[in-house]
Amino acid sequence: MKKQVIALLMAAVMVGSMAACGSDGAETTTAAADTATTAAEAEEGKEEAAAGDNVLVMATNAEFPPYEYHDGGDIVGIDVEVAEAIAKKLGMTLEIEDIAFDSIIPELESGKADIGVAGMTVDEDRLKNVDFTEPYTTASQVIIVKEDSDIAGPDDLKGKYIGVQLGTTGDIYASDYEADGSTIERYNNGFEAVQAMQQGKIDAVVIDNEPAKVFVSQNEGIKILDEALTVEEYAIAIKKGNTELLDKINKALAELKESGELQAIIDKYISAE
Ligand code: GLN
Repeated sequence: MKKQVIALLMAAVMVGSMAACGSDGAETTTAAADTATTAAEAEEGKEEAAAGDNVLVMATNAEFPPYEYHDGGDIVGIDVEVAEAIAKKLGMTLEIEDIAFDSIIPELESGKADIGVAGMTVDEDRLKNVDFTEPYTTASQVIIVKEDSDIAGPDDLKGKYIGVQLGTTGDIYASDYEADGSTIERYNNGFEAVQAMQQGKIDAVVIDNEPAKVFVSQNEGIKILDEALTVEEYAIAIKKGNTELLDKINKALAELKESGELQAIIDKYISAE
């Protein structure tokens, strides 16, 4: 365990010093939370990190529980564990870069990150700028309101103040209501949107179903409406045209599905209904 942390730190330092050589200066990166459990795994990680060029950089926005979130000094969650399992299959060391959600695709386009794993929905517009792997799970956009709200379903969002996370599919779908006189308030993350609703600044929040459940469980007096707005698929985003990495990750994902490891990771964070 300790060895692996050191290995990851070494990898971070090496990447950091490489970035420092470049003209755009050093970047803040966070070493991946470690889930390796055996000494053999730790040893493997150490060797790879020491090799230096075997780092898989994952861009994410760690404000999206249960997919990615801060737990003490670590970034944990479904996406982190899936990416770690993939990195392991590829013989690479995972490094996490925690950035704004709407910076993830530019980060892939510029080649600063290799994979975007952020509960990211496969979407037509995004497909113009990045490639997506096969999906690894499904999700939906739901509506969170105060328990005493007069909003009972999607139709009632007309004319209301709707909070979303900037640049997400929730933002895209909620924006359709602007034609009906609704006002969209865009926040950096879902938590901020929920806080704004608690403060009476907005009437509803449109966000992905699993983060919605987490936010509702952590806040008094709010609920999720039964009717979902969309059905979506999450996949890993990769720089357009990098078919070599895309193929490798699709293969790793298929193996994780086949072995039941993917489902086990999901079940660890999401209890069955
Ligand atoms: N699934 C949504 C999207 O892809 C939200 C993702 C997120 O906020 N991390 O836009």
